[in-house]
Amino acid sequence: MNLRTFKHGIHPADGKALSANEAIRDFRPTGEMVYPLNQHIGAPAQPVVAVGDPVLVGQTLAQPGGFVSAAICSAASGTVKAIELRRTVSGKEALSIVIENDGQYTPMPGVGERRDYTALSGQQILDIIRDAGIVGQGGAGFPTHVKLTMKEGVQPETIILNAAECEPYLTSDYRLLIEKTDRVLEGLQVVLQIFPQAQAVIGIEANKPEAIRLLTEKTAALPHISVQVLKTKYPQGGERMLIHAVTGRDIHSGKLPIDAGCVVLNVSTVMSIRAAVCRGIPQIAAIMTVTGEGAASPCNVSVPVGTSHRELLAFAGGLKGEPEKLISGGPLMGVAMVSLDVPVLKTSSAILAMPEDEVARWEPTACIRCGRCLRACPEFLVPPMMAHAADNGDLGAFEKVNGMECIECGCCTYVCPAKRRLTQSFRTAKTAVNAKRRAAAAKK
Ligand code: SF4
Ligand code: SF4
Repeated sequence: MNLRTFKHGIHPADGKALSANEAIRDFRPTGEMVYPLNQHIGAPAQPVVAVGDPVLVGQTLAQPGGFVSAAICSAASGTVKAIELRRTVSGKEALSIVIENDGQYTPMPGVGERRDYTALSGQQILDIIRDAGIVGQGGAGFPTHVKLTMKEGVQPETIILNAAECEPYLTSDYRLLIEKTDRVLEGLQVVLQIFPQAQAVIGIEANKPEAIRLLTEKTAALPHISVQVLKTKYPQGGERMLIHAVTGRDIHSGKLPIDAGCVVLNVSTVMSIRAAVCRGIPQIAAIMTVTGEGAASPCNVSVPVGTSHRELLAFAGGLKGEPEKLISGGPLMGVAMVSLDVPVLKTSSAILAMPEDEVARWEPTACIRCGRCLRACPEFLVPPMMAHAADNGDLGAFEKVNGMECIECGCCTYVCPAKRRLTQSFRTAKTAVNAKRRAAAAKK
């Protein structure tokens, strides 16, 4: 079969067999729960509770701090213990609401109650999504109600469900697709209730035959939802790669998916939409894979947001000996963890326990101009030129060689025989350029 895909990319060992057959387990931690107020793109959330207040499961702890922001709700019942700086997965500190967990998980009235989404208007659904604090679970945490709010006269033609899960080792989306197929499809239908003219396409890599079978079977009677099987290749789940594979259209960093007529949503995000709209449950859980050759019992877990990574890892069976390297997320786009005493966020997808890898052990050497990174880059960039600019702190030159088009996928770093830490330096340079642009805009 000639499967749709994008150009370039890589085929890393996927490591998914470690956890793909492990059903999602529910976890109810008993330790304190920590909620950083900036776990999304946009303005930090504003606390609406004070130290000493009792809280219930689903209760709003913080309201959005602006239109591009997200509410934060409690995943546990207990008492507000502190509002203070706490370290997060990134290693930085953020103002956080800390809950003394009573272990009872007493819900707010209405949380978990069924609601008929077909009786709701598009605006009512958007309001529920906003109040539920839903953010995209595939990456940076963009508030979903903002993504789904269209400019006057603009409507998407295609809602793409990103079921690629192309990042090695991660299997939580795959488990949702085969264990909760009906709920995923109901979530998509909720989105179609907002955009009744749109068609939904489920973009899924060919390496998930059981999920493809179930989705194909269950969408046969749903005329507005279809399944598009895609070639298995990293980063097939990147937004631009997925839009290209499904529609043949291309966008760059100055454009949004809606400029190609698309809205792209992840499997977990659609599950969160369904939970909020159909069951009154805000975004208070992350479905995570705890895996890697260093994990004692690789598995998939539904984890209350705010849980300590240390407590989650203990629940999941711990590590085989001393960890050599712990990553939050997958091996290509995840971040190295400096501590396990940091909370699970809405955007958390995995704890990956890896043996020390070659890239980390080897010292980078000079570029040998082999061109492998150019052949791997899905954005057709020239990583050695970007690296030269970024490493010299020349942000103007970095922008000139289109460095801001980098999606930080890690393909160039993966293939580089000189073990150059390319993606890391592009991430730093992009952050600096964005800060420079913000400062310039603030002066205007
Ligand atoms: S990290 Fe950036 S430069 Fe490297 S392959 Fe990905 S998009 Fe290209
Ligand atoms: S893959 Fe590494 S060594 Fe080869 S051209 Fe790119 S940066 Fe240079």
